[in-house]
Amino acid sequence: MTQPLRMILIGPPGAGKGTQARLLTEKHNVVAISTGDLFRARVKDPNDPLGGEIRQILDAGKLVPDEITIRMISERLDQPDCKNGFILDGFPRSVAQAEALEKMLKEKGIKLDAVVQMEVDDDKLVERISGRFTCGKCGEGYHDKFKPPHDPAACDSCGAEDSFTRRSDDNAETVRSRLETYHSQTAPILPFYERLGMLKTVDGMAEMAAVTAQIEAVLCPNKGCDKIQPPKMG
Ligand code: ADP
Ligand code: ADP
Ligand code: ZN
Repeated sequence: MTQPLRMILIGPPGAGKGTQARLLTEKHNVVAISTGDLFRARVKDPNDPLGGEIRQILDAGKLVPDEITIRMISERLDQPDCKNGFILDGFPRSVAQAEALEKMLKEKGIKLDAVVQMEVDDDKLVERISGRFTCGKCGEGYHDKFKPPHDPAACDSCGAEDSFTRRSDDNAETVRSRLETYHSQTAPILPFYERLGMLKTVDGMAEMAAVTAQIEAVLCPNKGCDKIQPPKMG
């Protein structure tokens, strides 16, 4: 058995958190938990009493209140599929959330392996976000320039046709607001994790596979580490 891998990916909008979380989950048999995806599912659910309120917050590029977000994550971490490990993508996004997560993990008896920050320049983020689209069927992420599908009308991953979607908050105005929110409310969690001695930084400007390799290197600096290597047979 490999050890469970429990990590946080921190980075501004468009840094590549979702892309890396997906690549790592496929390789290491852990679940990726994206608060953005959880909120988008709630917006779509006509029975969610907070769906309308959450939609307005997402479209404004602001943060959903900590109380709602923290409760949602706590319930998600209690699901049985998190036992093998998890990658948090997009949580925590404020100091209050980071403090609540520390407390929650202690109560649940869970220890984090790493907190990884992905650094990308603002200009590059705008380019990444404006070209982003996703397969609505399987969730595979694409980019007009950096990762176009082989067949422009079909998903490489699941083959679905005409299923590509673009996020309504990936427009110039909301992106500006999301970047401001990142710098004012999320970036302050970096010194929080640095003080705890947990923060690792990778260069998110590199190519996708190179970023994955950097993350794996900070997770397991020693070759043969059981967090990322399959067990040796015999
Ligand atoms: P985040 O989850 O941090 O908002 P995504 O993973 O959705 O970011 O990536 C944003 C966009 O940039 C997507 O279209 C994705 O295909 C593309 N992308 C992600 N990582 C890279 C990379 N290292 N180089 C070039 N494009 C990337
Ligand atoms: P990004 O590509 O900007 O990283 P996400 O999909 O992670 O986007 O998040 C989309 C939106 O969902 C955010 O702009 C914010 O409104 C909301 N959101 C996501 N995670 C959180 C969080 N931890 N706390 C509050 N709001 C969040
Ligand atoms: Zn697909």
